[in-house]
Amino acid sequence: MASRPPVALDVGPDGIAEIRFAAPAKGPPTLTVEAMGAFRRILSELARRGDVRGVLLVSEAPGAFLAGADLKEMAEILSGPDPGSRVRTLAAEGQGVLLELERLAPPTVAVIAGACLGGGLEVALACRHRVAASGPLTRLGLPEVKLGILPGLGGTQRLPRVVGLSRALGVILAGRDNLSAEEALRIGLVDALVPVEDPVAGARAFLARLRPGPPRRARPPLLLRLLEATPPGRAWIFRRAAAAVAREARGLYPAPPKALAAVRAGFATPGPRGYEEEARLVGECAATPVAHHLVSLFLRSRSSGNEALERMEGPPPEAREAAVLGAGLMGSGIAHLLASRGIPVAMRDVSPALVAKGMAAAARIVREDARRRRLPRRDGEALLRRIRPRTDLLGLGRADVVIEAIVEEVEAKRKALAEAEGAAPARGRPPLLATNTSTIPIREIAAALRRPGRFLGLHFFHPVRRMLLVEVIPGPATEPEAVAEAVALARRLGKVPVIVADRPGFLVNRLLGPYMAEAGLLLEEGADPGELDAALRDFGMPMGPLELLHEVGVGTAKKAAAVLLGAYGERWEASKLLAELDPTVPLMKGERGRRRPDRATLEALRARVAAGKPPRRDLPRLEMRERCVLALVNEAAHALADGIVASGSDLDLAMVLGTGFAPWTGGPCAFADARGLGAVVRDLETLAARHGRRFRPAPLLGDLAAKGGSLAGFAPGRPSR
Ligand code: NAD
Repeated sequence: MASRPPVALDVGPDGIAEIRFAAPAKGPPTLTVEAMGAFRRILSELARRGDVRGVLLVSEAPGAFLAGADLKEMAEILSGPDPGSRVRTLAAEGQGVLLELERLAPPTVAVIAGACLGGGLEVALACRHRVAASGPLTRLGLPEVKLGILPGLGGTQRLPRVVGLSRALGVILAGRDNLSAEEALRIGLVDALVPVEDPVAGARAFLARLRPGPPRRARPPLLLRLLEATPPGRAWIFRRAAAAVAREARGLYPAPPKALAAVRAGFATPGPRGYEEEARLVGECAATPVAHHLVSLFLRSRSSGNEALERMEGPPPEAREAAVLGAGLMGSGIAHLLASRGIPVAMRDVSPALVAKGMAAAARIVREDARRRRLPRRDGEALLRRIRPRTDLLGLGRADVVIEAIVEEVEAKRKALAEAEGAAPARGRPPLLATNTSTIPIREIAAALRRPGRFLGLHFFHPVRRMLLVEVIPGPATEPEAVAEAVALARRLGKVPVIVADRPGFLVNRLLGPYMAEAGLLLEEGADPGELDAALRDFGMPMGPLELLHEVGVGTAKKAAAVLLGAYGERWEASKLLAELDPTVPLMKGERGRRRPDRATLEALRARVAAGKPPRRDLPRLEMRERCVLALVNEAAHALADGIVASGSDLDLAMVLGTGFAPWTGGPCAFADARGLGAVVRDLETLAARHGRRFRPAPLLGDLAAKGGSLAGFAPGRPSR
């Protein structure tokens, strides 16, 4: 059977043409090279015909208009020869196609229902009008800079002309992908809203109402318009944007400054030069390893865990009801997450006051979302009603999935989970049981259960709503169906599941162990705490190690450190200073965003543990960064050799999503590969000569270096049991 063309043209007897983007077998329609070719032929035909009164651009995919460039194609180009000039050429060709769209004589209307992102929005921007289906499915944006590139099909040229300079910069430089239809209407990105039930009919009615003359849509407020109308005003806007970009991209991400340059090239003097610059600059971005890393991470994040699903015959059964044990920091976050995806959940704690505290925490998240207009108030109320506070076992019997997030004590967890197991009905499918433990081996908890095949670790990270990673940790008896159900659940909750072996600290905390310990050892040597945090922020970490320790909580971190040292202490060295930290004394002072480590407390501790050794006040940032990062990279190699995850690229994905490990690097393994594994081994040996055995290179690094292998590409196979 011949496959359907990706784009087709239908002209009705009323003279209204529909350009239809076909729904591919999987995922939303994208602008593949083939689709762009078909699109161009259709536009040429339309330009020749004299019988068309109006043109609608519609998508046949439910829930998506056009999701932008095809990222699989993009990833192949980025890892192929000369990606810079290939992308530049493709961008210039695509710009040509959209210019033909822009020049069509009849009015053109993009009918946006669902995702309209990147190249998809650039197509819509080349139409004279845009209408969007109201409701939560519609999302517009230009997320390119998040992938290390920039909008290359005229987005940097057309968006500022449609919504004004400031607002366009806000969308392009932040890589926003979440403008709602309502917000798009408010800023003039779309001309009208159409009913979600039948957007095409709405668009036809819009077309019938159109009067000649320039489109009428919302404009920026007067003050902004005045500012943007004068050269000094524009210069001020560009200066401010450049400063913000420099602050946030830290010179690590080439795309935002280049996107800014592309906007600047075309804003004052519209014409071909702006488009040429845009194509040239997107080519420059594509030639950087950062683009390659960010696109690969994105693609991996979408397929992660597939291996568990592919082993099954069909999709695993969907959870209809859930229960969460523990209404603390994590339990309340997990209950909120489940409820936010429409899953009713019983949340249990040991006293009414504690459950009420958990409910209040969930309500705080809802209020914050309402304030930021991410969630209509009514939906927030419905969400909270889906969480049923409990102190007894009621509600547990109906749950298809039970997630335990109580205190980190093995006996308590065994008891709570065995109780949940006992509360399940005797007939039917037993519920999936999961623990959110950070440090207790899954096998130890499993030993107390009657059906350990239905049990596994499901490790969320704090704060649950923001951190995308979930470690899925099968125990020795966990059945493949249970793993598949956990993977499917994590996806349904909008998270990225990575399957991790049942080893102490699992993956993320194990790798953070030596990184944090090194930070502590640096402090003992006399490193300035503020400098230490800054050194790792400069490297691209979202926060320094002390800020991270403060966020995680000193008490929690000490507990984790004890477990990790028990398991890997032969290779590691503990930090006395961290061990002596008092969990009840805050490590940082000041408000979030302006927090600084409490120097006096840390200095007093240093003096105590250093036993008279004079402090090294001149420790350079580069040395601090090298030591912390290489300690983590070395442990990554040990963990891979242990079979902790299926591949180095899984490890990279988990570290970027679970800790924010400098995304520009592509993750710890890609970072090591970029330096060269031979060089990493030499650098570790130099550090080992100075600081001792903790820096002795993991044997895998030397082995791979000798074979010319790669750490990111290293695949020990399935995570070992
Ligand atoms: P928390 O102290 O905030 O909450 C634990 C809650 O469990 C308390 O409200 C407690 O009253 C309740 N509880 C104790 N026994 C119970 C029982 N038998 N039934 C029902 N509730 C019971 O702790 P937390 O930070 O939310 O951590 C919970 C779990 O998640 C721990 O296993 C922890 O290791 C893990 N975890 C924590 C983090 C983190 O950053 N805090 C991250 C990932 C995983």
